[in-house]
Amino acid sequence: MQTSEAFVGLDCVDCGNRFDPGEEPGRCPDCGGILDPAYDYDRVDLSPEQLADRPFESMWRYAELLPFPAEAAVSMGEGGTALVECPELADAMGVGRVLLKDEGRNPTGTFKDRGQAAAMTAAAQHGAGTVALNSAGNAGQAAAAYAARAGLDAHVYLPKRAGFTQKAMTEVHGAELHVCDPVGGAGKSSQIGDAGAAYAAAMDDHSDWYSVKTFVTPYRHEGKKTMALELLEQLDWEAPDAVVYPTGGGVGLVGMHKAAVEAEKLGWTDDLVPMYVAQAEGCAPVVKAYEAGADEHEPLADDEVDTACNGIAIPDPGASPLILDAVRESDGGAVATSDAAILDAAIEVARREGLEVGATCAAAVSGAFELADRGEFGPDDTVVLLNTGAGNKDVDALRAHLGEREAAEEAADGEVAE
Ligand SMILES: *Cc1c(COP(=O)(O)O)cnc(C)c1O
Ligand SMILES: [Zn+2]
Repeated sequence: MQTSEAFVGLDCVDCGNRFDPGEEPGRCPDCGGILDPAYDYDRVDLSPEQLADRPFESMWRYAELLPFPAEAAVSMGEGGTALVECPELADAMGVGRVLLKDEGRNPTGTFKDRGQAAAMTAAAQHGAGTVALNSAGNAGQAAAAYAARAGLDAHVYLPKRAGFTQKAMTEVHGAELHVCDPVGGAGKSSQIGDAGAAYAAAMDDHSDWYSVKTFVTPYRHEGKKTMALELLEQLDWEAPDAVVYPTGGGVGLVGMHKAAVEAEKLGWTDDLVPMYVAQAEGCAPVVKAYEAGADEHEPLADDEVDTACNGIAIPDPGASPLILDAVRESDGGAVATSDAAILDAAIEVARREGLEVGATCAAAVSGAFELADRGEFGPDDTVVLLNTGAGNKDVDALRAHLGEREAAEEAADGEVAE
């Protein structure tokens, strides 16, 4: 296996044992815990000055802090995304600056590309022939794309509720798409857990398949951590006062917090980055756990999930202890807003700033407004909204909401006229 100089192994977050990355592609063989890439930071030969001389065009510019060198990467230039000033939103929010980290500019239109680039690099290094995962949609599409890039076969298990774009592009990339019925019967719509059950059954039947599923491969959060490295570099290594993150499984939030800790450890920054979980009220297990002071979430039943935000319709986020740790350690917070507020926020951003945020991603925008209302931010604060994906990934939810608003306005006008 071709690995980076400072990468020393995979540490289990539960039992603490260290494993050889050449041998362990998934969870901890001793206790089933999540494995986390570990580094000898004294061997990281990289500095902000060196970085300043590298083009800002892909996440692999931080390869010294990733498990694999850039030469080994399965890459399509993911990362290197813009951090866009949003003066109108800052005014409306009553803070110094609002910046939008625009992950919609990735190869398949979401930050899932960073995770899949890292995971697929590992798959290629391990000599995998077929990769598999279940996903809410965007990770499946990204896996299909990166598998194509690496010349691997892919099986992607999605719930019925996944978007048309995600299902279609998964097949366009040549992956095998499995749209899963709910466990216990067809008819109603299915959730990510149903896709997870079908994926697990298929993995049992195919011992040679290689998993690129959330927090099974140790590399997805590692790829996504580059969002924080970029963000800090774009802010001249000065931590913002808040990053508001639309949270599903928490892969990106956990990764970003890890990178902020690393940047502090390396002496590149003085402060951690306060991480805020934003969820939809119709599926907010992490927010509930945070508010209850709990160490982990209570799963929702599939039929309790009630949100149009597909990317964060995750009723049972297994890594919630890591998410909650990251939020508390970084002195962040958690907030849930209604679907109406989320979809209104997406339209607001599109109209005030011209920027296109996905329906799911807009939970960060409405969440930030709610936090501002609660007095969580000061007038000089810099608030970063993580736009995890492009607006055009889920246009249906946005257009449907616009239609409802227009119908409600017309009805109200009609009443006035009468
Ligand atoms: C997957 C996804 C999320 C949630 O990501 P996690 O890192 O797993 O919490 C948020 N937004 C979009 C657009 C997604 O595709
Ligand atoms: Zn373990």
